[in-house]
Amino acid sequence: MRSMNRKADTLLAQLAKGLLRHNTRETATQLGDRSQYVGISDVGKGVECMRAAVAGKLGLGQHVTEQSVIGWYQQDKFDQIYNTLKKQLVLQRGHWLESGIANALQANGTNTFCQLEIATQHKGISIKAHLDFALVWGWPQPTVRILELKSTERIPESLYTAYETQLYGQLGFLVECWNMPVFNMRDELGTLVFEKLTFPQAVKKVFGFPFPEKSTSVDIEGWVLCLAMSEAKAFGPYRPSDVMLKAVKNTADSIWNGVAAIRDGTSDLNEFSYCKGFHPLCDYCDHSGSCPKFEGEVLTDMAYDDELTLVAVLKDEKRNLEDRISKKEKRIKAFYAQQGRDSGWLKTAHYRFKSTRQEGRKMVDMTKLELVLINEFGEQRAQELLVAAAKYGQPFERLHIAKIQ
Ligand code: SF4
Repeated sequence: MRSMNRKADTLLAQLAKGLLRHNTRETATQLGDRSQYVGISDVGKGVECMRAAVAGKLGLGQHVTEQSVIGWYQQDKFDQIYNTLKKQLVLQRGHWLESGIANALQANGTNTFCQLEIATQHKGISIKAHLDFALVWGWPQPTVRILELKSTERIPESLYTAYETQLYGQLGFLVECWNMPVFNMRDELGTLVFEKLTFPQAVKKVFGFPFPEKSTSVDIEGWVLCLAMSEAKAFGPYRPSDVMLKAVKNTADSIWNGVAAIRDGTSDLNEFSYCKGFHPLCDYCDHSGSCPKFEGEVLTDMAYDDELTLVAVLKDEKRNLEDRISKKEKRIKAFYAQQGRDSGWLKTAHYRFKSTRQEGRKMVDMTKLELVLINEFGEQRAQELLVAAAKYGQPFERLHIAKIQ
């Protein structure tokens, strides 16, 4: 996407600067001062990588600002500008999709809270959950559906633990705080729609009908809606779970206490656990530069760098080829579906083809299982159970290559 044309580069630099400015404003109006509380998205990050969650809460890492972009522009450092633009596009496309989905829900006439905030406390720690959408029906049965929106490059086969944890946190706090005056909502300009209401009071104020005083009288579910450029998948239903809420609170506790320990000098960031292996969080992590995961010896001979560059180019080609194959296959599947056949073959001069629906793979989410076992049986027993149930495949060699930003 990076061009060798100065005018085009200037346009992209403008875009990067505008996105950064918009992001700063949006965060301030919708989320307030994030250093003063633990957000549910921090908790989601914390279950995957505690080091990244604590570092994020401390505000460590690179802080790219509009001024950084202006400086790079003056020094012709377009690669940095372009990397910033890519990161902002990934970070912000979720918000753009959010307003499109809000329009669709409104067109359906659904009673929808957008960005409903639950501002609660646990052991003196402020915790805030921001619900992308909460859909409410009073009839025939009082019902709430929480929708958490995720914009992804491709639709995942199964949901990341971070996303599930976020949703469990939202469901858990909704139920726990149902009758507490801790629900707030702002419109897209940041103006308060209401604050310090209970959930039934908020429903009455915004939608005009009474709602049960007890959450047990209401059918409550949560869903994660994953949206890619031309695909969508809903994961769920998830229901409120005491066990998962406890895990969410424990993680919030660990993040907050971790931040305090670093501030008072009794702990160091590198003492916190971090996610192992390839992890999507690492690709966009602001704290990867100092992360022990990527410590290594420097090789000064450029031959090594050239070889790795060649592998990266070949991998890009492979990815492009796979994308082309996938698009072609999708088109053929769509064509087959239009023929209205159940499972019969179609034939060409040299091939026959059909498209059938297969059962998805059943997998165990180890992070979630570990959290549940720890909450049920404690750390030691949980580890014993996991060791007893573990089965190991043959060892194999794997080459790990990542571009240093
Ligand atoms: S680079 Fe990866 S492992 Fe290291 S802090 Fe960031 S997310 Fe965690």
